[in-house]
Amino acid sequence: MKILVVNCGSSSLKYQLLAMETKAELAKGLLERIGMAGSVLTHQPEGKEKTVITKDIANHNEGIRLVLDSLLHPEYGVLKNVNEVDAVGHRVVHGGDKFTKSVQVNDDVMKAIEDCIVFSPLHNPANIAGIKACQALMPGVPQTVVFDTAFHQTMPPESYIYALPYEAYEKYGVRRYGFHGTSHRYVSLRAAKFLNRSEKDFKLITCHLGNGASVAAILNGQCIDTSMGLTPLEGLVMGTRSGSIDPEIVNYLMEKEHMTTAEIKDYLNKKSGILGISGVSSDFRDVEEAAGAGNKRAQLAWNVFAHKVRKYIGAYAALMNGADAIVFTAGLGENSSSMRLEICKTLGFLGVSIDPEKNKKRGIENDISTADAKCRVLVIPTNEELMIALDTEEIVKK
Ligand code: ADP
Repeated sequence: MKILVVNCGSSSLKYQLLAMETKAELAKGLLERIGMAGSVLTHQPEGKEKTVITKDIANHNEGIRLVLDSLLHPEYGVLKNVNEVDAVGHRVVHGGDKFTKSVQVNDDVMKAIEDCIVFSPLHNPANIAGIKACQALMPGVPQTVVFDTAFHQTMPPESYIYALPYEAYEKYGVRRYGFHGTSHRYVSLRAAKFLNRSEKDFKLITCHLGNGASVAAILNGQCIDTSMGLTPLEGLVMGTRSGSIDPEIVNYLMEKEHMTTAEIKDYLNKKSGILGISGVSSDFRDVEEAAGAGNKRAQLAWNVFAHKVRKYIGAYAALMNGADAIVFTAGLGENSSSMRLEICKTLGFLGVSIDPEKNKKRGIENDISTADAKCRVLVIPTNEELMIALDTEEIVKK
């Protein structure tokens, strides 16, 4: 079975074609600058040279068309006929509280994704455009949707209810939803397998540390809390996002700096985080380098980030009465041995003990703990595309 995984952003489109028998990536690529001048597609077929196509692409429909043309191309394509695609799995950011798992697309599902645009005004419309384009260009091919929020729907009310007048939840759906669910679920399944544990008897804390970052507490296979909330702004310090702050800061700064709601939104989402503290970069590599060269604010940004992750790990261990394992994943979690060490340095009380040699390895599933550590610390490269494809395969086979 061949499955195409599509991840539409507001101006970008990522795709991957997978052969499910072997889990091989037949082709993958990224189309950037949709709707702008100078759109560019980077297409990587398996075992062949990368191809870069520069062509202005006005919308997601044209984008999907270009992707299909590339997959079918006589030189750099990997398909002879579009009918070889058995199903398409779409990443959708916000499924509200309507979806607890991945589903096949139908009119009701499309309506529900539209209803969630209020919570995800940049992403959900792009996701919808991608689904509609695939429906039009691949009629009869089943389309499924995999939500970033779905895995967190097992959170109990004490995790997801904000301490606001209850009407805010009832009238407007103001509650915590959580994101990165596909990644947290993927690494939690891999962690149980890696440690040869039953998912059903396992206390796990997963740390997805990339540009966006979130932590999840997963008790016996179910998410019971996660750091992101109504939107992906809550929780950890991120590349450019503030994470949780005193809400009163919003009023105070709006007043002081005469900011509009759009401006404060931009400030919290794009100018804050480690970029805001360091003044250097949103990329942890630049911040670490600057800190190493003596830049005090870069060092502070690094320390604030680690401090916050440690706090969440401690809090989640408290919720679960301990933790059997902690997983690090995504760009920073998978690659930065120094950040992993920094985060873990006060976690000895949990039974965490890092083996500095094992911690040096990158890009592979790895247990970086010393032999006697009671709480295992794993590095697991995330693979959201594979998780989406596996869900799609399961739905289509049914
Ligand atoms: P996104 O949330 O955009 O998917 P990624 O998971 O790709 O992000 O993570 C990107 C971040 O990972 C970058 O900002 C970078 O700071 C960090 N990162 C990637 N490689 C390394 C590395 N070798 N050392 C430290 N940080 C890294």
